Amino acid sequence: MYAEVVVGISIDKLDRTFCYRIPESFGNSDALIGTEVIVPFGRGNRETKAFVVEVKEDTDIDKSLVKDILRKSETGVQIEGKLIKLAYWLKSNYGGAVNEALRSVLQAPRKIERIKERTVSLLKDREEAEDILREFERKKYTIKAKILRRAIESDFNYERFIKEEKATSSAFNSLVKDGIIEIKEELLYRKPVKTGEKNSDKVELNVEQKGAVDKVVDDYRKGIYGRYLLFGITGSGKTEVYMEIMEEVISQGKQVIFLIPEIALSFQMVERLSARFGERISIMNSRMSQGERYDQYLRAKHGDIDIIVGPRSALFTPFEHLGLIIVDEEHEGSYKSSKTPRYHAREVALYRAKEEGAAIILGSATPSLEAVKLASDKEIEVLMLSSRPAGAIPPEIEVADLREELKEGNKSIISRRLSELIKDRLNKGEQTILFINRRGYAGFISCRSCGEAIKCPHCDVSLTFHRPDRLVCHYCGYEEKMPDKCPKCTSPYIGTFGLGTEKVEEIVKKDFPNARVLRMDGDTTTGKNGHEAILESFKKGEADILIGTQMIVKGHDFEKVSLVGILAADLSLFLGDFRAAETTYELLVQAAGRAGRGRYRGKVVIQTYNPDHYVIQAAATGNYKDFYSKEIRYRKLGEYPPETHLLAVILFAAKAEEVSKGAEILAGFLTEKKSESFVVNGPVWASIPKLRDIYRKIIYIKSPDRDELVRLKNLLEDYVKESSDFSKVSVQFDFEPHGNP
Ligand code: ADP
Ligand code: ZN
Ligand code: ZN
Repeated sequence: MYAEVVVGISIDKLDRTFCYRIPESFGNSDALIGTEVIVPFGRGNRETKAFVVEVKEDTDIDKSLVKDILRKSETGVQIEGKLIKLAYWLKSNYGGAVNEALRSVLQAPRKIERIKERTVSLLKDREEAEDILREFERKKYTIKAKILRRAIESDFNYERFIKEEKATSSAFNSLVKDGIIEIKEELLYRKPVKTGEKNSDKVELNVEQKGAVDKVVDDYRKGIYGRYLLFGITGSGKTEVYMEIMEEVISQGKQVIFLIPEIALSFQMVERLSARFGERISIMNSRMSQGERYDQYLRAKHGDIDIIVGPRSALFTPFEHLGLIIVDEEHEGSYKSSKTPRYHAREVALYRAKEEGAAIILGSATPSLEAVKLASDKEIEVLMLSSRPAGAIPPEIEVADLREELKEGNKSIISRRLSELIKDRLNKGEQTILFINRRGYAGFISCRSCGEAIKCPHCDVSLTFHRPDRLVCHYCGYEEKMPDKCPKCTSPYIGTFGLGTEKVEEIVKKDFPNARVLRMDGDTTTGKNGHEAILESFKKGEADILIGTQMIVKGHDFEKVSLVGILAADLSLFLGDFRAAETTYELLVQAAGRAGRGRYRGKVVIQTYNPDHYVIQAAATGNYKDFYSKEIRYRKLGEYPPETHLLAVILFAAKAEEVSKGAEILAGFLTEKKSESFVVNGPVWASIPKLRDIYRKIIYIKSPDRDELVRLKNLLEDYVKESSDFSKVSVQFDFEPHGNP
């Protein structure tokens, strides 16, 4: 047996693995993954520590050159080893190369210089120092005198002094050499986030919240590190429940990973958590600098923090004593990685929790079908929060039928009922959110004469119109000026169709000339804090109406919002993606949940052309069970996850013929392997057949058995590696895909 090892876990070391022979005496080789071993390294066979990242029966390298692993390292299991094992699991279960998996997991930060702070202090007693100072002054040693004068006053910061006084290090060095002063060095951590003041205010939990907390805490104290689904309606106080449980976990000396769906939500979450837990909290995400990440890595590893907050990559925080993983808003699509290995954070969190003996809580107001399936299979325990805490009542929801509006002559995008309610809120000085479901929406330009839509030259998608005269590709960023006639038939009748935020803003301003309106979408939120600034301003009451897309519905609390209008609820229902109904339901419920979170009773108007659709109905009545039972029946009929398992094999090539040929070959290979245990569909063009000048085709494989799909993935991976037909075609794997890859 052979082992591939890495000789360090910083980013530059992860790209290269080295092959060694595993001595017979080591026993079960598979158990070696993640183990630290000692190997003879380089020409001099220097004894070097290395981690085993892969075990295999054979190697391509000349066997006479392969050296033996010397022995296992004495240090025992380390967190790096556990994470390497996790990376290996990712590779095996989702596909891709070991290096890719390692880089996802050990986003290990290149080794970065730590920040140093140096403090200068006096070594001599005062009298003696003053004598020396007089001596310096006499000899006109100006800089040295300045330093000494300062040191006599008090200890001071070395770096600041150098900068302010334009002093040089040599002056300091000579004083140090003569034993007059000393310079003490301290290593500091970069702190990427401000933790707030700890305050002891705690809310009094209601009966359901207490029930949920007691269940988890009782289990925990008995040594049962369970898996739970905290199913609580919007605003039911899930975060309070998490915090109460975290308190128990932390008091046992263990650590907590708190996953949130988006980086933008980390700051408000840290603020809330630090009010309760103080300073031992940090964040981890890809927007931080290398130095910040490296320091958080060290702080976590050394146990200097108890809680880490972040999006899916925070799952790989190197906590030695992991006690709890929370996956908040577990239904969110952003938990699925869109690059290889295309893992789902929920699945990985369940795995890591099991491996490390940690409890796990998935939380949501609109749980994914996957999570509910786990619950109905008794794999996970449900904790319900069915009401909002005292004083806050869930909003009242009305459906406005846009077909009726049209019939009765209202051509506006705002129904008469919604319009009436907006006026009422304006009069009362309460706030309104208008939510536009942009999923599935295209503000594209097309020609009314020939019907041609203007497309991006690099991607097979329509360009989107932006004021005043630009056409932009939302996938690759390509831009051109809006033409004044159709590029194909030269007709001047070209224009935009559909509903964009800008259009809505224009209409709202016209219909409600006295209202102060804010708009938030991809365009207004450029810049690191554009997003936050708009939300803050709205929170402060600086506007009456906020118009926005999905980004305004996630996890924000607006005290004074008593009306939410959902303008085109059904736009995303017919996307041809098997999750379309589920994502629409989530969006509607989450958007509706923004209403009435403060003192005001909330009202929600869902505008739709399909008032009878089960998704609209279930969202309007808040009946999750109803939604679930219809949706799961549809998944069963159509054989979609979570009722069966689905693997998308995605092929990429620079030429259409190349990708088609590759797809045919793989489809043929699968046909040869034909068996009862799986079904092949395709190959088909991806929903965006060309993206950034690369063509994409997909083969779908379905099986009731996930392991069967993993086996096929392995066969395909090996085949592609060996076959000369795939020099220009690359292949990726996507298990239980989200959207149309
Ligand atoms: P969720 O995470 O379910 O959306 P939060 O935990 O954010 O809900 O709670 C919503 C609001 O209700 C917050 O302002 C929170 O402080 C408050 N809250 C939660 N539980 C209670 C309670 N038991 N009593 C009073 N207020 C509560
Ligand atoms: Zn035309
Ligand atoms: Zn493009």
